[in-house]
Amino acid sequence: MIYVEVAVAAPVRSTYTYRLPLGLRSDDAGSDEGLIGRRVLVPFGNAVVTGYLIALERQKPPAELQYKEIADLLDDSPLFPADAVPLFRWVADYYHHPLGLVIKTALPGGLNTTAERQLCLTENIGRQAVAAVCVDYARYDWLLQLLENGRLPAALSKKVLNDRHHRAVVARLSHEKVLRIERRAAQDGVRNKYERCYRISAALRQSLATVEVTADAEAGQLADCLAVIGGRQPGKAERTTVATLWRLSRENGTSDVPRRELLAAYPYASRIVAGLAAAGAIEVVDRRVYRSPFGDLLPYYPPVAQLSQEQQKAIEAIGHCLDERRFHTFLLHGVTGSGKTEVYLAAARKTLEAGRTVLVLVPEIALATQIEAHFVSRFGTLVALLHSALTPGERFDEWSRVLSGEARLVIGARSAVFAPLTDLGLVVVDEEHDGAFKQQDGLRYQARDAAIVRASQHGATVILGSATPSVTSFFHGRSGKYSLLTLSRRIGGKQLPGVEVVDVRGRVGSEGTSLFHDRLKAALQETFSQGQQSIVLINRRGFSPSVICLSCGAMVECRSCKVTMNLHKQTQRMLCHYCGYQLPSSSSCRSCGSTQLQPVGVGIERVVEALAELLPQARIARLDSDIAVDRRAFLALLQAASKKELDVLVGTQILAKGLHFPGVTLVGIVLADTGLAFPDFRAAEKTYQLIAQVTGRAGRGESHGRVIIQTMQPDHYAIQYAAQHRYQELAEREVMIRQGAGFPPFSRLIFIVVEDRDESLVRRRATEIAQEARTWVRERSASGVLSIMGPAPAPLERLRDRHRWQIMLKGTAVAALHDLADHVSRTFQRSGREKIIIDVDPENML
Ligand code: ADP
Ligand code: ZN
Ligand code: ZN
Repeated sequence: MIYVEVAVAAPVRSTYTYRLPLGLRSDDAGSDEGLIGRRVLVPFGNAVVTGYLIALERQKPPAELQYKEIADLLDDSPLFPADAVPLFRWVADYYHHPLGLVIKTALPGGLNTTAERQLCLTENIGRQAVAAVCVDYARYDWLLQLLENGRLPAALSKKVLNDRHHRAVVARLSHEKVLRIERRAAQDGVRNKYERCYRISAALRQSLATVEVTADAEAGQLADCLAVIGGRQPGKAERTTVATLWRLSRENGTSDVPRRELLAAYPYASRIVAGLAAAGAIEVVDRRVYRSPFGDLLPYYPPVAQLSQEQQKAIEAIGHCLDERRFHTFLLHGVTGSGKTEVYLAAARKTLEAGRTVLVLVPEIALATQIEAHFVSRFGTLVALLHSALTPGERFDEWSRVLSGEARLVIGARSAVFAPLTDLGLVVVDEEHDGAFKQQDGLRYQARDAAIVRASQHGATVILGSATPSVTSFFHGRSGKYSLLTLSRRIGGKQLPGVEVVDVRGRVGSEGTSLFHDRLKAALQETFSQGQQSIVLINRRGFSPSVICLSCGAMVECRSCKVTMNLHKQTQRMLCHYCGYQLPSSSSCRSCGSTQLQPVGVGIERVVEALAELLPQARIARLDSDIAVDRRAFLALLQAASKKELDVLVGTQILAKGLHFPGVTLVGIVLADTGLAFPDFRAAEKTYQLIAQVTGRAGRGESHGRVIIQTMQPDHYAIQYAAQHRYQELAEREVMIRQGAGFPPFSRLIFIVVEDRDESLVRRRATEIAQEARTWVRERSASGVLSIMGPAPAPLERLRDRHRWQIMLKGTAVAALHDLADHVSRTFQRSGREKIIIDVDPENML
């Protein structure tokens, strides 16, 4: 009897010990270690629930405790490696989230649906082996079908397993390892794909190997061999089938030949294969095929001829650390176009050559496409891609490739931090400052931070790369916690673009004014007439961020949120960007019924319209998250841009990230200070980052780049520093401001948000929580290291019909801060009907 630790997929705080009956382990091919990472069904309260087996308990638990038994093992092999368990535990602890739900979030979608069962023939089992166990096998149609096809469809398998008599036959065959029962996700799209293949049987292969098979001699010699196998004289079609298989398998360098290939070479084989398989001359195998995420749109990037001196220095420093297999974090601060990717590639090569694995995190799909092309160019099928734009089936396949060890380098967005890698040697986080690494709902984890922790658990080296590191990482780099590596120059001696700040106070956006300052207008026209490309950044989707009623002056607000509706002209809708609520754009005012509604403010669609007027001949494309929903279309646009089939790219911040368009010489920012208005202590940092990132898109090719920033706050330090490429000064200044205010990195924050439809309940509960937290702090005399702010209505005080209040916990002692959050969670979470969210290290202050 062994005891195992199970994390159930339910909102509970602890894990539970269960007994694993011996009967369930009989199908277990490997050691007991192979049990970790499998899903189990366990009795829990009055129900049976899914759980994850996360540890074996060697110690026999105290005898007086009665442990329940695991009802069933759901998987035939682990879904995640034992290696990943420490990360899951840390994430659960640090983000105050139930461990079973952490694992559920981590696993690729679709797995958590109910499993269905399929009967599969063990590989290389022929008729004789079946007959040896079950003499009257021919009586069972399903068994004949299984022999023919290697596996039975789920529906038929279910029918067989539901019949007592048939089930007994299955049990006998399964006991003799003739067949096995496989479980897989019931959802169609998530299924592994199998491809029918044929291979020449081991015995026949042996005799063939001794024969010098030439084109002419083939048929005759094969005839001899076949005669030996089948005990009868083979026909011409049989000989040709085997000869074709033999030839294809040698040409492909693999024993398995896909059915479609065989039939393409010799169509008549379709009538022959069954007989040959029955005679034991060939074997039928269903080979797993991986749907490749790498479409033909990915360009090939050859290795660079010569690394720059700065690149070499960085690679050397990282290399030492990799050699020592030591956990350490490097902050790679490289200006845009300085060649950070080459540094990642070199470190990845070294890690792979040492037999270890690599995790590369990137913020979003837009960026992923170019960086993934670099990695695929270098490492081919060793690369697996895990991001949210994949279909569930593709994700599942990629996950499996990583789990099996076939893919040893994972590139992906946020959730790839949970990839089932073993023996992790290197973690790369590109654009480490990007807020997208923080998940904003459910399990609110920070993937960059979790990746660093994962690296620390496995003695892996970390590279955090950015042109504009987060102030926190900069601070760690300066204090020595991280090692700072700098790439200060662009590759090929290119200059950073010149930046011009233009004051557009009272000019932009209101009726009758142009969206573009004369300087920007002239620059756009000039760039176009010179046949070069421009990027125009506007960080707002839609046509306008609000709509006003001209009769009564009311703003059109969302029905369920306290925000204004955005006008989307293209879809003729007014849309709430928070909850997705829509109205036709022809709607009337809810206060007075007037239909005289007027768009206010500037969104990307309006910019596209204005550009089309300014440059009627130009080819203009819009790139924003509304477009990026269709990844293929989005990739096609990026490709058109890099082929210079587009003249002006108008984009939201999606365009600011990591893209490399050598033809772009002008970048215009329509309104650079929109972000400064947010009630967020990172507002200046984020504004700087956005400007610097989009500025970095200009002048990456032969011609020098220029940037024009339109702003209403031309003197703001974030804008001034950004215009002068003075990252260091910006960061130093931010560090000082935060030290004064006690904000991160000089403290850590945890937000407690209370949400419900009932406003008075929300206010009451938020008040109770704040009181309880203050009492807790007082009783522990912790007021020196912990402070509590609030309760207060959240900046977005109504969202999806829920009222929201928040309390901010701020602490300089991490352990105490988390103890307090834990106390709040134990006392209040799940005790009432209101929702209480614990947001650790909040990224979004709304
Ligand atoms: P970053 O990520 O730092 O902005 P990239 O890694 O995208 O910069 O590199 C910018 C460009 O320079 C890319 O096209 C890249 O292939 C090229 N590049 C990088 N290193 C070298 C090198 N040593 N020699 C020539 N070209 C290089
Ligand atoms: Zn009105
Ligand atoms: Zn809404």
